[in-house]
Amino acid sequence: MAKIGFVGLGNMGGPMAANLVKNGHEVHVFDLSEAAVQHAVEAGAVFADNAAHAAEGADFLITMLPAGVHVESVLVSGDGLLDKIGKDCLVIDSSTIDAASARSLNKAAADRGIEFVDAPVSGGTAGAAAGTLAFMVGGSDAAFAKAKPILDCMGQNIFHAGGAGAGQVAKACNNMLLAIHMAGTAEALNLGVNNGLDPAVLSEIMLKSSGRNWSLEVYNPVPGVQEGVPASRDYDGGFMTDLMCKDLGLAMDASQGSQSPVPMGSAARGLFNLHQSQGNGKLDFSSLYQLYRKKS
Ligand code: NAD
Repeated sequence: MAKIGFVGLGNMGGPMAANLVKNGHEVHVFDLSEAAVQHAVEAGAVFADNAAHAAEGADFLITMLPAGVHVESVLVSGDGLLDKIGKDCLVIDSSTIDAASARSLNKAAADRGIEFVDAPVSGGTAGAAAGTLAFMVGGSDAAFAKAKPILDCMGQNIFHAGGAGAGQVAKACNNMLLAIHMAGTAEALNLGVNNGLDPAVLSEIMLKSSGRNWSLEVYNPVPGVQEGVPASRDYDGGFMTDLMCKDLGLAMDASQGSQSPVPMGSAARGLFNLHQSQGNGKLDFSSLYQLYRKKS
């Protein structure tokens, strides 16, 4: 059993912390939202009234925060946890942030003799709850080996993508592709509906045909076609459009830095940004389907 500090208990962090508890770990939790902390405590975690208390004496410190600025604040400039934890505490940042920030956090940790891995995830809130996330890890072989048993409690597929920042690069590539196939799926379904097809029938056809993809399989964007997905609960919960726009920005940064052409990713980014600008940032990203619908 390890002592784990966990900071950031939102849509993803809450269920991830609960899975660590289920696996017998002592998990000390903190979030700016009291309700989020309360929820985690009800799942068996230990209450902490600030980030430093959550991290005190921890073998592992896990952060699951919105963006790079939050992670930097918790670890360095604000709460300054890197100066408060022991040298044998491994820091695992599972937030999706830019690779440059991940590398600089890795260096800030290394300067203090602390190991750090970037370990962003894929699999959504359902994967977080089921403990079936995919982790893409960037860091040294030794840090990866130390992190793996802990990540195994929250995920099914744990990949060592490479050195510092490599997990974030893999995540940016994956989410750019996700944005592209969600936009394509919404577009194709809307085309079918506008030409008289039942979206459930069209989905079934495309699932058995060459248009098959993850969005169609487990995240259908049309309300009522699939049970248990955000589209069937008014696009509540899930993966916010705001976060998808952030991730597409990270992919664009990576493309600029490496002079990689990303015309499809740029088009998807334009669509999601337009959707966000129309007041849909807090809705799940599959609500992009509504952008295509004819307004009566
Ligand atoms: P969220 O907004 O639901 O949760 C973030 C939590 O961080 C909130 O509860 C917030 O109160 C807390 N927080 C912010 N600043 C803090 C601070 N300084 N100290 C303590 N707590 C603080 O976001 P989420 O959906 O859980 O996503 C978290 C990360 O995981 C993001 O980087 C996101 O891109 C990534 N991600 C999300 C999904 C998804 O499906 N939601 C999937 C894969 C990856």
